[in-house]
This record gives sequence, C-alpha cells and structure tokens, in this order.
Amino acid sequence: MKLIDVHCHLADPCFDRDCDEVVKRALDSGVVAIVTSSQSLEEALKTAELCKRHRGVLYHSAGLDPCLLNEEAVLQVAEFIKRNRDQLVAIGEVGLDFHKVVERDRKEKQHKIFSFWISLARELDLPLVVHSRSAGKYAVEQLLAEGVERVLMHAFDGKVGYAIKAASRGFFFSIPTSVVYSQQKQKLVKHLPLESLMVETDSPVLGPKPGRNEPANLHYAVEKIAEIKGISIEKVAEITFRNATAFFEIKT
Ligand SMILES: [Zn+2]
Repeated sequence: MKLIDVHCHLADPCFDRDCDEVVKRALDSGVVAIVTSSQSLEEALKTAELCKRHRGVLYHSAGLDPCLLNEEAVLQVAEFIKRNRDQLVAIGEVGLDFHKVVERDRKEKQHKIFSFWISLARELDLPLVVHSRSAGKYAVEQLLAEGVERVLMHAFDGKVGYAIKAASRGFFFSIPTSVVYSQQKQKLVKHLPLESLMVETDSPVLGPKPGRNEPANLHYAVEKIAEIKGISIEKVAEITFRNATAFFEIKT
C-alpha cells in the first residue's frame, strides 16, 4: 500500500531534533511521498533544504500564513516562488482565515492577498493548496469567481454543501488524520466522492490523538475513510494516491 501525505509542516521547529527519523517512520508506514508546506520566506528556505536532503520523498508547497497581512512578506514569498518554480509542486497553503481575522477591513485585505496568490498560481501553472478556516464558503466562492481550476482545499471546515459544489467543479479535498474523531470531517467523507479526496496529516497538528502529529499517522485517515464509505483500505489508498500524484505531478 502506497500513500501520499499531501499536507504537513516539517519545517516546524518541533521536528528539528528528529526530522530524519520522522521521514523514515513515514516511509516504513507506507507513505512514499510527503508534500510539506512552508508559511513564510524563512520556512521556505528551510523547507527547500529539507526537500533537497530527502529528494524523491519530500515535495515543497510554498505559501504564506493567511493571517500575515503584510505586503512585504507577500512579495518576498512570491519572489521565492518565481525563482524556485521548478522545485515546487504547489502554491500554498494560502487562503482565508476568519477564525483569527475578524475585522472587516482585515478580511478584505485577506481576500486581496488571496486573489494575488490565485493569479500567481495561474501565471506559473501551479496548483493551489487552500486554507479556509471558518471561511470555507468565502474561499470556495472566491476561487470559483476567479476561475481557478487546480485546487486542493486542505482540512476544509465549512459546510458540506459548499464542498459538494466545489467538488463538482473539480476541486479536491484532503482529509486530515483528525477525521478519526471530527464529525464534520466524517460528514465530508460521507458526502464527497472518493475521486475528490486526498489524505493529509497537517503535522504537527490535527493528529488522530493528542500530541505531535507526524506523517507516519496518515494510515489513520485512510482507515477511517474506508470505514465510513464501507470500502477497502486498499481502494482508498489507491484512489487517493492516484489523485495526489496527478494533482501535484509527482512521479513515484
Ligand atoms: Zn497546514
């Protein structure tokens, strides 16, 4: 069984002491590729080094924390993305976070920055990995209005109706390991076709149990999806793997 963790943050300082072992444990558990997402220029540089060290296993998706409404930071990361386009498999995570950003003018700024990333993804022909905490509806609406096609909604916490609409337009959804207890994620799995799903850990967060999450836990998500859909674990692994390799153009 081969799996791909399509979203995590291995440049997080909590992995500094044992990142190599974390990658090894992932490989031992059947995870053959890991897309690790950077959220600042500093993290992008660190992530690029990590991906070099684990070539063929780690893949880089470069983005910016959606709560960092700082033009200088946006331009710096955009420069990095343009310079390193061929070393990247996606732009993200980027998007909207209305959990942390609540004031109207700051929300507007977030929409504007998101729009900038959407057009950069189009310009560079890279897929987008989208964060949409407490803003699922607004993120989906903006993406559809701006006509972008290659989209992965990561850890989507919005209403299932918007997810169904987005999936019917070709968007993908990555189901995190927290699906073992999150009823909202379970509902998403129930109502979306397997052809629209991928799996992620979002390490170091969203683990199947309390404590630091890591890519070796990815199988928890696969097992739960199989249980909810009443199909085999192998089938879930096969289809989510195929979705991920096609979306990120990863050759394993
Ligand atoms: Zn994340």
